[in-house]
Amino acid sequence: MKKGKVYLVGAGPSNPELLTLKALKVLRKADVVIYDRLVTKIILKLAPAKAEKIYVGKRSGKHRMPQEKICAILTQRARSGKVVVRLKGGDPFLFGRGAEEALEVKRAAIPFEVVPGITSALAVPEYAGIPVTHRDYASSVAIVTGHEDPAKLKNPVKWEKLASSVDTLIVLMGVKNLEAIVQGLIKGGRDHKTNIAIIERGTTKRQRKIIGTLQDIIEKANKSRVKPPAVIVIGDVVSLQQELSWFK
Ligand code: SAH
Repeated sequence: MKKGKVYLVGAGPSNPELLTLKALKVLRKADVVIYDRLVTKIILKLAPAKAEKIYVGKRSGKHRMPQEKICAILTQRARSGKVVVRLKGGDPFLFGRGAEEALEVKRAAIPFEVVPGITSALAVPEYAGIPVTHRDYASSVAIVTGHEDPAKLKNPVKWEKLASSVDTLIVLMGVKNLEAIVQGLIKGGRDHKTNIAIIERGTTKRQRKIIGTLQDIIEKANKSRVKPPAVIVIGDVVSLQQELSWFK
């Protein structure tokens, strides 16, 4: 029997043109594609029409498929000799539990490869005209989860420490927890005039950005009804978007 294999593939930050050539190559030979909410339909269509496509993301109002079940599908399909592409938004090993899936596959003794993707953490600020470093503004960057319920995390984010130790903060999954994040940073000594940008649906036609300071961003975000997916960028580099915005 043909030997199956799992490819953990980054689909990039929603804009299909930001898919890598390697991702395209493995998608074209996929027997099975397992994908999340942030993977666009155009990218899915690059897989053969006969490939089995399995959605494992959140359904409106419901939870996503349990992680054990996703892993079970991955290993079961690969064991039956299939080429399985596990497509994830952005880069597969930056949040989104790609590493957990890789470990399961490895432990099941199934061959696998990782195909890096362009992460939203960098590409979304770039499409909003925000470089994450600049010699005069920022020499350090941290990419942080803003997950709504820090109590659920084994390693809760230390916002107060991050406030004073890193120049640019990039927060993913932070919309619902924005208020607590801002408060944590101010409590940790970050100037309330620090610039902050929220970029919704970055790199797509529906991209929207809300610019403010730690002091007024909550009000602005509420007024604009900010919704996920969005990347939040905090730091002096945000001011560069006035000159560097290029994507319309
Ligand atoms: N592995 C992914 C991140 C997964 S976590 C990556 O490397 O990009 C999911 C979070 O990514 C979302 O909550 C949001 O913060 C961010 N995100 C992904 N695509 C985005 C987009 N097009 N615009 C804004 N944020 C995005």
